[in-house]
Amino acid sequence: MTRRVFLCTAAAIRSRAQGRLQVPIHRVMDARAHCTPEQLRHFWSSIWPEAVRDFNRGGIELQTSDGPGEVRRSAGDNPILIGLRRGVINLVLTDHLPMYWDNGRSLAGVTTLWDGYPVSMITLPYAHGNQIPFLSVNTCVHELLHVLLQDIFVSRPNWYQSDGREFRSDWYATGLWIFHDGGGIRESAQACVDRLRSAVSGRT
Ligand SMILES: [Zn+2]
Repeated sequence: MTRRVFLCTAAAIRSRAQGRLQVPIHRVMDARAHCTPEQLRHFWSSIWPEAVRDFNRGGIELQTSDGPGEVRRSAGDNPILIGLRRGVINLVLTDHLPMYWDNGRSLAGVTTLWDGYPVSMITLPYAHGNQIPFLSVNTCVHELLHVLLQDIFVSRPNWYQSDGREFRSDWYATGLWIFHDGGGIRESAQACVDRLRSAVSGRT
């Protein structure tokens, strides 16, 4: 390898490294959830590693931390979430969604801004990995994209906006999965991470 080639290669590696975006994720296992060992095993050995890999290939690194917490439910009311952190995306793992969010639909996940905290809640019995491009993608990737594409910061979207966001999330998730392409996500994801950080610095 000539010196010039070496320098070009080193520069390419460096710029690629600089182009990678790090997204802080705080994982909370709901202490009240009753998940089977098989559901836990499937999530940790298959669904979550697949999500990490898909984002990674698109230039987005998930930086994870773990902590205790729980979901306190009351029929029809907004749930109370314990153990969330500021400045991160909180990934709450549970066995079923609160009625208030699920409305009897048995969803695999939901993403929202709860008391100012970005929260993706995943139900382990219904969560799944990539199945069908554009239609059924990894539950964690789909839900985290709702935060990274900043859907949660728009209050009261219209029905067509909501439907559009579902499709958009699956579209970009498929891009990560099949084409290893995160180009359409990174700019918004960077703005999202900046927003999370400024929310923390604004409080301190
Ligand atoms: Zn969705």
